[in-house]
Parts: sequence; C-alpha cells; structure tokens
Amino acid sequence: MESDRLVRTVGGGRVLLVRADITTIAVDAVINAANASLAGGGGVDGAIHRAAGPELMRELRERYQGCPTGSAVITGGGRLRARYVIHAVGPRWRDGNHREPELLEAAYRSAFALAAEHGCATVAAPAISTGIYGFPIELAAPLAIGTAAAALEAPDTSLREITFALFSDSDLEVFARAL
Ligand code: ADP
Repeated sequence: MESDRLVRTVGGGRVLLVRADITTIAVDAVINAANASLAGGGGVDGAIHRAAGPELMRELRERYQGCPTGSAVITGGGRLRARYVIHAVGPRWRDGNHREPELLEAAYRSAFALAAEHGCATVAAPAISTGIYGFPIELAAPLAIGTAAAALEAPDTSLREITFALFSDSDLEVFARAL
C-alpha cells in the first residue's frame, strides 16, 4: 500500500478509505457498529461511547429499546467531532448461510438512509461486523462499498462523501481492492 488514504468518485459523491480511529474524524455522522441491545460493547462501539461521553448511552436508553440486526438508530454525537452517531447493527457471522451478507448490507443501507434523512453530507463508517462478530472482511468490503456507492447515487441525496475508517493496514488493503 502506497498511501493510507484512497479516494474514488461515485455518482455525485466520493468514497474515501482511510486508516484511522473513527472517533477522531470530523463528519456530519459517525456510524457505529452496535449490538442489538444497544447496551454498549467492546471494539469500535466501546471506543465511540468513551470518546462521545455518557450522553450517548443516556439518549439511547431514553429513545430506543434495542435495534434489530440489519437496521440502525440515530443519536446526537456527544463530545465527538460529529453531529450524529448512527448505531447500525450488523450480523454475527455464523456460517454464511444465515442471511449474513443480506443483513450486513441492510445495516449499512439503513445507516446511510438515516444519515440522508438528517441532511448529512459527510459520513464515516467502520468495517461493521468484521471484528468481534467475525464476518470475513474479504466478503464484507465489497458489500460495504457497494452499499455506499448506491447511497451516493440515490437521486436527491444529501450524502456527498462516505469515509470508511479502517483500523489496520491489512483492513485498508482489503477495502482498497474492493474499491
Ligand atoms: P463488530 O462486533 O460489528 O464486529 P467490532 O467493533 O468488533 O464490531 O469491529 C468492527 C471493526 O471496527 C473491526 O474491523 C475493528 O478492527 C474496527 N475498530 C475497532 N475500533 C475502531 C476504531 N476506534 N475506529 C475504527 N475502527 C475500529
């Protein structure tokens, strides 16, 4: 990998790949890889809650009673450099025969749709389900990027830029191949 940043124009917008901690990115909305109980967890979810502060969990408890796999909910961004956090629930990988690809696409699609409903132009997303949930990143990357491209190509969308924040060089390389 020559660079730790990659850009591609899609429709009227751009898909960006960066190697970064998603909690440091200044965007309209940060997408979180949450779990269905919205109860907080490890990985990127723990990092986002720590960086955003307790307001995030308070708002989740007040407004929502969990979130089904393949969908997403939205809160304010707390102390993050983001107006919103969109909590998307990807599937836990079992064997690939339990609608995992479909559910991962649905989680991204719901998250991008919520961002557009709230007038967001810039969004950052992690590689949902590829950590603790065990979804093979080689299969997840094309689904994530394809769903992002479709969201940017939707007519009249407010979305202009979708950044995938990858946590390692190898994850970034897999996404770069898919892009
Ligand atoms: P899941 O349970 O959906 O698999 P994880 O948080 O375990 O969620 O992992 C999702 C992806 O997020 C993994 O690729 C992991 O390396 C990555 N990740 C963990 N912390 C961060 C962070 N601070 N910024 C961006 N990506 C992160």
